[in-house]
Amino acid sequence: MAGIEITSLHMRYPDGTVAVEEVDLSVRDGELFVMLGPSGCGKTTTLRAVAGLERQTSGTIRIGDTPVDDLPPGERDIAMVFQFYALYPHLKARDNVAFPLRAEGLPEAEVRRRVEDAARMLQLGPLMGRRPQRLSGGEQQRVALARALVRRPRAFLMDEPLTNLDAEQRTDMRAEIKHLQRELGATMVYVTHDQVEAMSLGHRIAILNKGRVEQVGTPMEVYDRPASLFCAAFIGSPPMNLVDVEVADGALRGPGGIALPVPYGVPDGRPLVAGVRPEALEVTAPGTDGAVRGRVVSVEALGDETIYVVECEGEHDVRVRMPPTARFAADAPVGVRHVGGPPPVYDRDTERLVA
Ligand code: ATP
Repeated sequence: MAGIEITSLHMRYPDGTVAVEEVDLSVRDGELFVMLGPSGCGKTTTLRAVAGLERQTSGTIRIGDTPVDDLPPGERDIAMVFQFYALYPHLKARDNVAFPLRAEGLPEAEVRRRVEDAARMLQLGPLMGRRPQRLSGGEQQRVALARALVRRPRAFLMDEPLTNLDAEQRTDMRAEIKHLQRELGATMVYVTHDQVEAMSLGHRIAILNKGRVEQVGTPMEVYDRPASLFCAAFIGSPPMNLVDVEVADGALRGPGGIALPVPYGVPDGRPLVAGVRPEALEVTAPGTDGAVRGRVVSVEALGDETIYVVECEGEHDVRVRMPPTARFAADAPVGVRHVGGPPPVYDRDTERLVA
């Protein structure tokens, strides 16, 4: 296996569209690295440049110790799995998996051994004799994965491979991919716009926006301390409350006078925004100590938790995550208070994390 080093990648398509403005990423050997971002942020283009399917306008890509900029896709020694399975319809699953090995001219005994290994890892056993049209979407995607891994490439690139699966199949396949990655110690770059998928799969996540990397970090790092307002709004469901605040009397003061603890190093005299997770707030009885007054706008009971939207004094709505035992009705007068540690704080002008 091998790490992947992307340096100053810039990509402009012939029609003038700049898909990748400037991307620097360093994927470690054996890492499951997720590229996450909204549609059109340049994830696929970056991945295709690594695979050699697009030629970057400038910048360099190394796989292991090898600069691959001048190598065609076939010589980069990587496997790519797409959201569309692209299996050969006339070939049985077994022959689809064997296809790249036969194309390389491997001896048939070796082909058979590797195909059996892959079938075992992905539990494809009885499905191997079927043609794609007799397999479900999830099964086809497992066959596509098996076909990618028989070649034992130096790295795997996956572009939204679970998009066409239903919710249950996605959960299963996610576990499968995680397990495979661990078993093979494989370097994997996984592209998705789904933050749940990113958080549950990635050792580290890169958040992309408009062709640039906004943040790279572990799932907990990007959740706890999003590096910019963009990341703060993108990660978490429901997302953070972004609250205009100012430093006064040793606290961060928000609308309606809500008080938040001040993190160390908050700059003076700048317009600031605090990022307050819904679970760092609490709905209480009106008049509770330290709570600002509000009114319940909506209640979403999800079974294991309840999400409240509360309009606080100053006509400011906040989202609050509460245990299902909380019982506040729509329209009820309530209090809202902060219960967590100091929130991340952003400069309102630069939109970057400052404390
Ligand atoms: P998605 O999640 O929708 O696939 P993405 O983050 O993968 O999005 P890209 O597919 O890399 O984004 O596209 C980045 C930008 O480049 C978009 O504005 C897209 O319209 C544009 N683009 C992609 N391919 C081409 C192309 N062949 N020619 C011109 N523009 C392109």
